[in-house]
Amino acid sequence: MIAENYKNILKKIEAAKERRTRASKKDNVTLVAVTKNHDVNAMREAIDAGATDIGENRVQEAREKFQTLNRNATWHLIGHLQTNKAKFAVEMFDLIHSVDSFKLAKALNDAAQNTDKVQNILVQVNLAKEAQKFGVFKEDLSSLVEEIDEMEHLKLKGIMLIAPNFNDKEETRPLFSEMYDIFTDLKTRLFKRAEINILSMGMTGDFETAVEEGANLVRVGTGIFGARNYL
Ligand SMILES: *Cc1c(COP(=O)(O)O)cnc(C)c1O
Repeated sequence: MIAENYKNILKKIEAAKERRTRASKKDNVTLVAVTKNHDVNAMREAIDAGATDIGENRVQEAREKFQTLNRNATWHLIGHLQTNKAKFAVEMFDLIHSVDSFKLAKALNDAAQNTDKVQNILVQVNLAKEAQKFGVFKEDLSSLVEEIDEMEHLKLKGIMLIAPNFNDKEETRPLFSEMYDIFTDLKTRLFKRAEINILSMGMTGDFETAVEEGANLVRVGTGIFGARNYL
């Protein structure tokens, strides 16, 4: 079932690329299989079906799985990160999507320096200014990006959005489109270290719309693994 779902999502991504009007139809889209609240067996099944990228929300849960998974994968931290877990996050994750403050960026830079790593990160944007969501507001993005670009052990790769959970998925389209504008604008800027090439947006309910509007990384959990059982 997981293998079938995974392949089905890949097909839908390819079809959504064909419907793009602004972004290139050819640009690759990375599918991150979001495995939070699913066990290691499910993760192995997805990887054996071709999944190359794994997304986890919480450092502690990811650490336990990391030790027993016994498969190669690129690890993405997609959930909120507290500064006191920066060290573990840097040890484990290839890309951290949820950087949204100078304080967190600094903690990650320090942790990366200690292990001689350059940590790839995205800045999470709270475009709809939802009170319960993390992320920087659009007007604060530029200054955070400049601060991050000064940090020797961080490499900014792009931006990430968690869209509001609208009933009508078409309501998310203008937000995705605005993120694409911000992304293309960032790409034209001159940086010391940053290499902007990732636009992370779209989940099970809205990944096709996100790809249509230019997402090149989507994060899908339920669509691959089924509903999550929260313990
Ligand atoms: C859980 C989660 C996802 C996946 O959500 P689904 O609706 O199950 O596809 C994607 N991104 C983030 C940040 C998440 O927390």
